[in-house]
Amino acid sequence: MRISFFGAAHEVTGSCHLVEIGSKKILFDCGMFQGDDFNEGKNADDFPFDPKEIDAVLVSHAHLDHTGRIPKLCREGFVGTIFMTEATCEFAKLIWADALDVMQYNNKKFQSPVFFSENDIAAASRACHGVRYNESVDLGDGVRAIFRDAGHIFGSAFIELSGEGKTLGFSGDLGNEHVPILKDTHPLDAVDVLLCESTYGDRVHEHLGERKKQIFDLMKEGWGRGGTIMIPAFSLERTQEFLYELNTMSEDDHSIPDIPIFLDSPLAIDAMKVYKKYPEYYDTEAAERYMHGDDFLQFPQLRLTYTREESKTINHVRGPKMVIAGAGMMNGGRILHHAHRYLSDPHSMLIIVGYQAQGTLGRKLYEGAEKVSIFGDEISVQCTVRAVGALSAHGDQKKLLSWIGAAKPGPKKVYCVHGEAHAATELAHRIRDRFGIASFVPEYGEVVEV
Ligand SMILES: [Zn+2]
Repeated sequence: MRISFFGAAHEVTGSCHLVEIGSKKILFDCGMFQGDDFNEGKNADDFPFDPKEIDAVLVSHAHLDHTGRIPKLCREGFVGTIFMTEATCEFAKLIWADALDVMQYNNKKFQSPVFFSENDIAAASRACHGVRYNESVDLGDGVRAIFRDAGHIFGSAFIELSGEGKTLGFSGDLGNEHVPILKDTHPLDAVDVLLCESTYGDRVHEHLGERKKQIFDLMKEGWGRGGTIMIPAFSLERTQEFLYELNTMSEDDHSIPDIPIFLDSPLAIDAMKVYKKYPEYYDTEAAERYMHGDDFLQFPQLRLTYTREESKTINHVRGPKMVIAGAGMMNGGRILHHAHRYLSDPHSMLIIVGYQAQGTLGRKLYEGAEKVSIFGDEISVQCTVRAVGALSAHGDQKKLLSWIGAAKPGPKKVYCVHGEAHAATELAHRIRDRFGIASFVPEYGEVVEV
């Protein structure tokens, strides 16, 4: 078995690993690189392999950095099958359409590249095959795959791929603990080799029990200032979790005042329908609410702004108001329009709730930038900027170690991917020290025989 690391090596985006197993060439994920710009140059480059030779793509979850280059793969000759959970299939189609929309907009404004078309999305959609959790998927020539619940976003999976008498695990992204709506991460079974994400490989999150209180306290501070509370959120999962928490505050605790809360993301609005379609993915609490007919993503203060025209009306509503919009790392999407308008307003507030990759606007603001550039304009940051680590979608170092440590027998080798160099390296050291497992941090383009 041979593994080539073609993305998410020493970084958190562009997830893409090629596995040659038996007579098959299989990709784990085929995601977009994300950094300074939505259309980072690397995405338009040729693949470092021939897409025509790939037999199948196994997709861990729908996030753009795991699925974003699949239509490009089809454009360049891939004719195999794309396996993912049923919800991921539906999300992926939304994600691709949204990405195309953003690319076309950026192309018009900034002449940045558009590297797939509607036809390519249609080809990718036709190649998608939805699987169920824990089902054994036959890939031919004795190669099989099983998707297990990763608890990271709705429909997310980690994957076990077996053939040649060995099993390779691919973590995809692993979820945080006790997240609303989602079940906890399925335990890791015995695997020989593991590719493990390491986004927070060097960090331990603050205690999660206070998550709702943290959100409430920040919101209270925000509406007390009277301006706009901006929440850049991944349209899949972070947004819905946030809505779930706001729903309980609004309807159970009656603790939030009657201020308008705009969900300014067509992608997140469309995604809500997929949540409603797969109640079998819910954790116990969400399932119970669902059984009682409670629509846990809706509440009286919530206003959905789907079209660009509806979005523009938000500007005319006086504060205090709250806007939840993508992209989660502020490297594109409608959040930029709000940031352009309100970052310089001392009455406004920016709440960062997710991981911010190096080079993104979100990362610059998280690190305290006093001036940023948006749409070519220099903006002086006068609003309050806060970050809540507890709302991360990724498990921390403790979670990653206990997930790996619980496998009996444990893997013989672990490759730490999907983390910046220091995070991946620290996780590799910890795995080696604690479990005596040989652990590595592969470089982009590195090829290993296992
Ligand atoms: Zn993800």
